[in-house]
Amino acid sequence: MIPYARQTLEEDDIQAVVNVLRSDLVTQGPKVEEFERALAKRAGTKHAVAFSHGTAALMGSFFAMGIKPGDEFITTPLTFCATSNAGLWFGAKPVFVDIEEDTGTIDPSAVEAAITSKTKAIVAVDYGGHPADLTRLREIAKKHNLVLIDDAMHALGATLDGKPVGSLADMTTFSFHPVKPICAGEGGAVTTDNDEYARRLRAFRLHGIVKEDFVNPSPGAWYYEMQELGLNAKLTDIQSALGLSQLGKLDRFLEARERLAMRYHGALAGLPVHLPVTRPGVRHGLHLFAVRLTGEWASKRDELFTKLREAGIGVQVHYIPVHHHPYYQKLGYMKGECPKAEAFFASEISLPLFPSLSDADQDKVINEFTKLFS
Ligand SMILES: *Cc1c(COP(=O)(O)O)cnc(C)c1O
Repeated sequence: MIPYARQTLEEDDIQAVVNVLRSDLVTQGPKVEEFERALAKRAGTKHAVAFSHGTAALMGSFFAMGIKPGDEFITTPLTFCATSNAGLWFGAKPVFVDIEEDTGTIDPSAVEAAITSKTKAIVAVDYGGHPADLTRLREIAKKHNLVLIDDAMHALGATLDGKPVGSLADMTTFSFHPVKPICAGEGGAVTTDNDEYARRLRAFRLHGIVKEDFVNPSPGAWYYEMQELGLNAKLTDIQSALGLSQLGKLDRFLEARERLAMRYHGALAGLPVHLPVTRPGVRHGLHLFAVRLTGEWASKRDELFTKLREAGIGVQVHYIPVHHHPYYQKLGYMKGECPKAEAFFASEISLPLFPSLSDADQDKVINEFTKLFS
């Protein structure tokens, strides 16, 4: 089966991990900070704070902004459930609004229309690697005094008007799961320019423990204080070494994705599908090659999906709208609330795209996909 996504690990990545395994510190050694500095540099921010998972990075962001039970945040249903789950853990209520049909990212006008006195944050998602309209979302957040969080798990390396994703929101979250732009095994990070958010993010991943700014007088160098309720959500040195090695390859990975995406565009242009768009001023992260069936084909998605899987093409669907999941239905969310996201989901298939996808395998995908319509 040709997977829809997979890691691209090379000999020097493996060596970087082995070097840490042979060193004195395998968890909280120097590699975490080195990785954080490299990420902050890439994102163009003052801080990067590494986490055990992208999900923990999202939870850290909600914690850092101080969201509480009864607060609301506005987000998109066209995402992995982790985006809104992270806020639910703090007792806050996700309000789902619809997407823009071309990019699959949250519609800023819908965001503005959904703001109430309870709204505290906007959580955008850079669907498939295309930055959300973060320029307008930032203006809206500023006007209404809201925190803007960008779930950029798909979009490390993407840019908007020449500025890197990571620097375009109050806090931006990344994932280093093997299917994502770079792999650390598991892992995540938040980038931010805000010193106070960075301090709170660091405390959150360490049980809420701080090693300065104490409430009580410090009796000695051994002293620490738990001031709030956090988690153990640290990234290890083993993972950081892998992440750091992979980050050095990000541009090469992006270029490989761009070349393969162009081949898809050339080969699939005549078919009854919408291909991924890139708006002016955007460098697309191309995490997904998300195609949408058009016309009568849209209702045949599951049938075509099964045929592709049977032909050895590991297609995937991104995403079941979050409010359709049984857990969210029990909370009272209704199907039909976000018709554009729901139509997007119903007609979507993600074709294989990853840096080490060979031309021969891609040709097989193109061939099998094209055959569906003959
Ligand atoms: C992968 C992903 C997450 C979760 O990241 P993990 O590192 O797997 O915890 C959250 N949001 C989106 C959009 C994702 O794709």
